[in-house]
Amino acid sequence: MSIIFSGVQPTSTPTLGNYLGAIRNFPELQEGNECYYCIVDQHAITVPQDSQLLHERIRKLAAIYLAVGIDPNQSTLFIQSEVPAHAQLGWILQCYCYIGELERMTQFKDKSKGKDAVSTGLLTYPPLMAADILLYNTNLVPVGADQKQHLELTRNVAERLNNKYGELFTVPEVFIPPVGARIMSLVEPTKKMSKSDDNQKATIFILDSEKDITKKIKSATTDSDQSIYYDKEQKPGISNLLDIYSLCSGKSIKDLENEYRDQGYGSFKTDVAEAVVNTLKPIQEKYYNLIETNQLDEILDDGASKAQSVAVKTLARVEKAIGLGRHS
Ligand code: ATP
Ligand code: MG
Repeated sequence: MSIIFSGVQPTSTPTLGNYLGAIRNFPELQEGNECYYCIVDQHAITVPQDSQLLHERIRKLAAIYLAVGIDPNQSTLFIQSEVPAHAQLGWILQCYCYIGELERMTQFKDKSKGKDAVSTGLLTYPPLMAADILLYNTNLVPVGADQKQHLELTRNVAERLNNKYGELFTVPEVFIPPVGARIMSLVEPTKKMSKSDDNQKATIFILDSEKDITKKIKSATTDSDQSIYYDKEQKPGISNLLDIYSLCSGKSIKDLENEYRDQGYGSFKTDVAEAVVNTLKPIQEKYYNLIETNQLDEILDDGASKAQSVAVKTLARVEKAIGLGRHS
């Protein structure tokens, strides 16, 4: 049995990248493991957010987690800000991370590039993410490839405290899926697809309509070579569409190359769009049934109290070990 933790930010509706790189794997991991799936709203405010929209996106994300198959009887589904131990341990871990190592994080560099005002939270996001993971004695963290560096930092800070104070934390392993870990932008296929990309055409959102999905895939950036084969360096756009098609259809890249090698990009894109629509349709149907129900609140209340009961034990152990409070 493993203890599993993963989170998604409610910065917008989750994307096809979030789904193929991370969320898709969550339901099957529930079997035989102890899973914590989190809506990391405190991470979302590291960049500016509209408060009303943020509330809505939190609810939406909860319904999406359930629609993809998270079973609240098997897993703990909760909102980060409703479990105060996250911010409490996050603060402690900030005090054991160095500014230099945080400034080296590529996500910080990417998200702060070209901005006049960058919040302190954007820099200190990784220790809060480390707290999210370490609070539950997590062994395994299923994430997309972009989170690898943050996971290494989590392991380093956990080992740093373990070396100084004895075995406080379980040092987690990262699980990055072999395919789909880095779905690329449809407009700039050398850049990862992101929820918070300003260009809506670059991203397929899980709740996009059939018409929008088809339009976005049809206008995806490719190349002028007109032949369909996998080559990430020379043909990043086509390779990204092949990854998406393969994951959404269950067909191997090799089979798809053979099937489409001599066909035009037009019919290939039509079929990619159809595969994506068929993958997302059942999730959308479940989502629209769930979003308006009271069931969501009950599940999230229950999840927060289950998570807090585990998290406070880790927090108390750490506070005692490092000398906070009165009791040694
Ligand atoms: P934001 O732009 O707000 O950071 P995001 O799209 O990067 O949004 P996150 O909430 O930060 O989404 O990440 C949620 C999960 O999705 C993480 O496990 C992350 O590694 C994974 N992920 C994010 N983008 C991709 C992508 N393009 N391909 C595969 N996995 C991804
Ligand atoms: Mg992200």
